[in-house]
Formats: sequence, C-alpha cells, structure tokens
Amino acid sequence: MDTQYSQSVCLKGHQISSFITTSSENPKEFCEDCGSEVITHCPSCNKSINGYLQLDGVFGGYDVPVPSYCRNCSSPYPWTSTALESLKELINLQDELNDEEKDDFSSSLPDLISNGPKSKVAITKFNKYSSKISSGFRNFAVEIISSIASDVIVKSLTP
Ligand SMILES: [Zn+2]
Ligand SMILES: [Zn+2]
Repeated sequence: MDTQYSQSVCLKGHQISSFITTSSENPKEFCEDCGSEVITHCPSCNKSINGYLQLDGVFGGYDVPVPSYCRNCSSPYPWTSTALESLKELINLQDELNDEEKDDFSSSLPDLISNGPKSKVAITKFNKYSSKISSGFRNFAVEIISSIASDVIVKSLTP
C-alpha cells in the first residue's frame, strides 16, 4: 500500500516536515526560523497538505515542494497570499511604472507562480517591466518569487 504523508508548513512557507501521518494530532507549533504558526491543513477547507508519497516497494526519499495552492479547494495557501501581496506592494512603490503598467504587472503575478500556458506571458511581463525598474527591485522580487514558484520559472526570470 502506498502511504501518503502530510506536511507541516509555517504561515511564511517554511517546510517543517513532509513526513507526518494524517492521523497525527495537530499540536500548536511554531516555526524555528521565523516564529510563525505551523499548519498541516488548508485554512479554507481543512484538507491536509500533501507531503511525502511513499510508493510501495520504492525506497529513497525525494524533496517534497511546499505547494502554492490547495489541491482540494484551489485557495492560495497563506504563504502564497503573503508573497503575492508583498510583490504587489513592491510594484506599487516603483515610480518608473505608470498606474496602468503597475496594474498589468500586478495582475500577472498569480500566473507567474503557477506552471501553465499563461506563466510564459507572465514571465515575459516580469522581464519587460523589471527591466524598467532598478535592479534592487528585481533582486527582492526574485527572492520572493523563488519562495513560492518552481525553479523552472525562477530560472526564466532574467538576472
Ligand atoms: Zn517560518
Ligand atoms: Zn483548501
């Protein structure tokens, strides 16, 4: 029988464990890195967050990424919402962009972190707009994005 473990993640998106059993209790716990509360279930629908999948007869571990969205109700997890909000705030502070560009840039952010056909468009927008802004912005933004997006996307953002 394959065993699906759950994972525990702090509200800022630090993975605590990807090996917890779904039956285990959910004691209140805090992140050692940032002090945020640790959750094991989606705050919107209360489904457990998928962790390590132990396939029958297969040994050896692999890294389990922290998911951005709940597979059950499609709500962004708290760390995803926080990252998106921070990026929007960062964009709003850039005087080099006019309001229309800021809106366009901000509205492409959800596509930037989800692997799909529209993420290509969002990557192009990111590279276009961030080329107009100081490199400080790009460094901060890429740091935030790399905490929630896949490596493939982060690598597509021009350094
Ligand atoms: Zn943390
Ligand atoms: Zn959910």
